[in-house]
Amino acid sequence: MCAIVGVYDSPNASKKAYYALFAMQHRGQESTGISSADGKKITLVKKRGLVTEVFDEDAFDKLQGTSAIGHNRYSTAGNESILDAQPVFARYKLGEISVAHNGNLVNKQEVREALIDRGAIFQSGMDTENIVHLIAKSQEDKLVDRIKDMLQKLEGAYCLVIQSRSKMFVIRDRYGIRPLSLAKLEDGGYIVASETCAFDLLGATFIRDIRPGEMLIFEHGKEPKSEQIFESDYHPCAFEYIYFARPDSIIDGTNVYESRLKMGKCLAKEQPANVDLVIPVPDSGVAAARGFAEGLGVPFEMAIVRNHYIGRTFIEPTQAIRNLKVKLKLSPISSLIKGKSIAIVDDSLVRGTTSKQIVKMLKEAGAKEIHMRIAAPEIKYPCRYGIDTPTQEELISAKYTPREISDSIEADSLGFLSIEGLKKSLGEHRSYSLVSFDGNYFAGGNAKSPGCSDLE
Ligand code: 5GP
Ligand code: MG
Repeated sequence: MCAIVGVYDSPNASKKAYYALFAMQHRGQESTGISSADGKKITLVKKRGLVTEVFDEDAFDKLQGTSAIGHNRYSTAGNESILDAQPVFARYKLGEISVAHNGNLVNKQEVREALIDRGAIFQSGMDTENIVHLIAKSQEDKLVDRIKDMLQKLEGAYCLVIQSRSKMFVIRDRYGIRPLSLAKLEDGGYIVASETCAFDLLGATFIRDIRPGEMLIFEHGKEPKSEQIFESDYHPCAFEYIYFARPDSIIDGTNVYESRLKMGKCLAKEQPANVDLVIPVPDSGVAAARGFAEGLGVPFEMAIVRNHYIGRTFIEPTQAIRNLKVKLKLSPISSLIKGKSIAIVDDSLVRGTTSKQIVKMLKEAGAKEIHMRIAAPEIKYPCRYGIDTPTQEELISAKYTPREISDSIEADSLGFLSIEGLKKSLGEHRSYSLVSFDGNYFAGGNAKSPGCSDLE
């Protein structure tokens, strides 16, 4: 899971990419990078750390030009090397190129092995490097044709922003699994970004979402040119709405906050609870908990406080430290909780670590009864398309029933939103990607799971 941005035909393009990446920091905190192009060369700055830590005035002195692309990388266990930061830059036969990628290629291993057989060498574990190699190895004369050639060899989820010294290419896979939108900047330039919250910060005017299977080609002084490369087979990722995206973003026409409210309301119908108070697990459970409280007609309180200064970076992804992490991050307001029957609402249950700690925390604060409600269906399958869910063995719902989990986290009850309820909440005009819940790996057949990591 990552954020990408591309800015074109706009003075100080790298500054705009920077603000966009700042607005999308929630999509990845491990490393960040921007490359800019001034028509003659591409310059790249990338490093581990947050957007505000990595870029300073020195960086912007280097990042000249009217085109810039950028990336925020999500932490994945075992791959924390700077070599895994993006964009990926390379010199090749036609000049210079830089690529930023969001999503997961399910045929990464096959493509890589084929490239290695033909003598390619790799610096990182990233599937993005495959993309650069495929472009460099293509026999086509023009970059645009090399990109099309490369796209024929990708399977899975991807949103791509590709920069040459003078042009920019933007591609969304045929399934539209990851979000990507287009807007116009006040200065007349264009911006594409994973989430619309980036446009709001820059005062850019939303134009439309990039269509599944579409490529947009940006050339200086021209309107972006659209080409439909693949026939659309639209399955946007439901998990963007459940957890990943910022609530102020609008993805493919659906407001993220409102969809979470609906999930909460639907959950109240499906899994009601006889309680005095509804509490969210902040921040990700807030909107769904509001909807749940409204659906039940029960008071809502922010009775758990979150410490926002706890970074992910100093936490090692081991189980022992994960347990402590919940306490570092969340703390209850006992006076609101004492003696009450409580419904506690979170957006999703992955390993069950958070819920267990929270139930314990609420008990210590004097809660009479604790009813855990999850505004998503049971996560039974790892996602192969870029959501960083762990391997199936680590997914608690893959092994245990809600009843068994409820007992193990020592709650009085536990209820999940149904898959039908989720579909209804998101609107039935579209076929969403629900792989984490139903195991329907529609893209890339039975390719191996990329595996995974470090959840909060
Ligand atoms: P658990 O403690 O059950 O393993 O995880 C549940 C919590 O993880 C929920 O509070 C949810 O907001 C959060 N969560 C869900 N998906 C993700 C993800 O992809 N990354 C991170 N960091 N947290 C997630
Ligand atoms: Mg959460």
